[in-house]
Amino acid sequence: RPEGSPPDEQAMTQIPTKPAKPAMQVPLLDLKAQYATLKDEIMPVVERVLDGQMLINGPEVKELESAIAAYCDCKAAVGMSSGTDALVCGLMVLDIKPGDEVITSPYTFFATAGSIWRLGAKPVFVDIDPVTFNIDVTKIEAAITNKTKAIMPVHLFGQMADMDPIMAIAGKHKLHVIEDAAQAIGCTYKGRKAGSIGTMGCFSFFPSKNLGGAGDGGIVSTQDPALGERLAMFRNHGAKPKYYHRFVGGNFRLDTIQAAYLLIKLKHLEDWSAGRRANAAQYDKLLAGIDQIVTPVIAPGNVSIYNQYVIRAQKRDELKQHLTDRGIGTEIYYPLSLHEQDCFAELGHKKGDFPESERAAAETLAVPIYPELTDEQIAYVAQSIGEFYG
Ligand SMILES: *Cc1c(COP(=O)(O)O)cnc(C)c1O
Repeated sequence: RPEGSPPDEQAMTQIPTKPAKPAMQVPLLDLKAQYATLKDEIMPVVERVLDGQMLINGPEVKELESAIAAYCDCKAAVGMSSGTDALVCGLMVLDIKPGDEVITSPYTFFATAGSIWRLGAKPVFVDIDPVTFNIDVTKIEAAITNKTKAIMPVHLFGQMADMDPIMAIAGKHKLHVIEDAAQAIGCTYKGRKAGSIGTMGCFSFFPSKNLGGAGDGGIVSTQDPALGERLAMFRNHGAKPKYYHRFVGGNFRLDTIQAAYLLIKLKHLEDWSAGRRANAAQYDKLLAGIDQIVTPVIAPGNVSIYNQYVIRAQKRDELKQHLTDRGIGTEIYYPLSLHEQDCFAELGHKKGDFPESERAAAETLAVPIYPELTDEQIAYVAQSIGEFYG
């Protein structure tokens, strides 16, 4: 509620009063808890990298690329400076240019459509499936024109988009498929890993992702080693050999120190993702009786890594405030659908164009799901949600 606006009386009367002091603190994400368990392993490695001073393209970068390629069941992976740069570089390598169209979801982090826009291409939005929050595959074909070059599905919150129909449509219309797998490392669709199905998969190592770096980082996976070589060239100003430029790329490199840090964390990723799934199962059970919310639905054939546990909630904003008052961190991913963003005004969209995306933006709330959560914390969050709805 903006300052100075009148109180919402209905909300005031129905919401339980704010406790003087929360019974517990449950942050949305507790990176310090995870770091504490790894510090002894990480510090010597950081020291080794700094002592060696191979700060760019050090051996750890190649090592991480091989390890991620293997983890994602891919033939190659190429480190990038961020998830955003992974998308930008991926699109550059596929020669996406002004006038081209790329089909994607309007309900995602900004970088998905931002990367398309930055190459001068046009993001063409297709509404989401209200059950999974991923692109509605039944609506893709109607959005294809003779300018369409690629489809960029997003595997939102750690659950993969319905890839079989997407690949069938792409095959029929000769389109590339760029998986925005920034939230999806290690999750599977019918046994196949995120980033292993499309032309390429773009991952983020932003600290809040399941595999988070000590700062920004990303990687692109592919089954095509030649494409991997092109990606490696483009991330380094299109040079091969050094100082001989066949293409105009950029500086999209992943730092050695990030790669070394991520190699340590990668060993724990499976356990962390299993921990998130176990926490999700707890929530599913504890929240099952509350009619005013919908807990996440994982489509048959999918295994989620729960980068986020996102519920649909009646009176979402009031619930968020209620949980804040009780020391519980939450977040709205995402409060404004991309077709309604000011920067995309010239696409000419208006409210109502993608109703499911807009409805999701108005109704969803992410609650803490990180693997180090205790049973007591999960029970407290669930109990606080139940208390809100009486
Ligand atoms: C995090 C994220 C990105 C961007 O990754 P950065 O590393 O933050 O640049 C892109 N797409 C989605 C869906 C994301 O969640």
